[in-house]
Amino acid sequence: MNTLKLVVKLVLIFIGYVSYCQELNDGPYVFIENKNLIQKTIVDGKVITKKLKRSAYPKTFAPEMSTFSGVKKMAVLSDIHGQYDLAIEILMNNGIIDKELNWNFGKGHFVIVGDIFDRGPKVNEMLWLIYRLEQQAKHKGGHVHFLLGNHEYMVMRNDLRYVHERYLEAGQLLNLEYDELYDKNTVLGRWLRSKSTVLRINNHVFVHGGISQDFLSKISFDIDVINETMRASIDISKSELKSTEFYTNYYGKTGPIWYRGYFNDDLEHNDIDDVLSKTNSEHIVVGHCSFDEVIRVYDGKIFGVDSSIKKGEYGEILFIEHGSYYRGTKDGTKKEFE
Ligand code: ZN
Repeated sequence: MNTLKLVVKLVLIFIGYVSYCQELNDGPYVFIENKNLIQKTIVDGKVITKKLKRSAYPKTFAPEMSTFSGVKKMAVLSDIHGQYDLAIEILMNNGIIDKELNWNFGKGHFVIVGDIFDRGPKVNEMLWLIYRLEQQAKHKGGHVHFLLGNHEYMVMRNDLRYVHERYLEAGQLLNLEYDELYDKNTVLGRWLRSKSTVLRINNHVFVHGGISQDFLSKISFDIDVINETMRASIDISKSELKSTEFYTNYYGKTGPIWYRGYFNDDLEHNDIDDVLSKTNSEHIVVGHCSFDEVIRVYDGKIFGVDSSIKKGEYGEILFIEHGSYYRGTKDGTKKEFE
């Protein structure tokens, strides 16, 4: 009897799994094979493969510029973590995109301070949206900056602990490991590898975790060099990276993508001023530490923009316009900081 129950249960699980896979829709993923572009899309659980025109997507992406000045308006958010539906609601209500998901922020700069990957179910959709917005913004004199957070580095370096189960199924259907969907032989993989980790716009520094005093005691703060060093590390094995101080300095707890000290350590104003002076900035904007809303600490020297979008319920955007700061709420109401 117990054996029968077990068999029935297993059959039901199997049917559930099969119907789940049949319903799966995902992609596109575009692979670069020799000089050809091969697109794979999952439609109702089946992989559709199509050879694209060679001109359909670029095969190389120049490294992003690290420094911008004279920017009059900026919008910033972070830690989307696969919550595409909520993210587009926030972006639409705050005028960054229109109802057709096209760029609507004019000459503004839109900064995503990392962590699009992991946890939630719609990562690929978000990446393609940002990819498209980036080109549309350029045509309008604006700019999209997608900075890499610890979860981008984790996925690209094959640390798949936080990947949503939907993508493990997609990987199985495509017969590839999840990190291979974004490796250096894919369009989005090459695009990701052109992105920065640290960005300067006017007197603001943007970085996923933060710049710590410990980091600054070991590494001189040259944004271009830091970005190039981080880019170069993506496809190098952990053991090779760990053979020098590099891994602890850049990927450690006080490194730019993992640091949480602005919120978790008992820092004095002097410490923050020291970091600002060494980074030649007046404000630092970070994600990575989650709060219920966009927050401002240390008299507005530090902004935390991870407003817990990852929970899929609420989120905010930070506006920086002509030296003033506002929180853009989910419904698009602009609120001043208290
Ligand atoms: Zn993070």
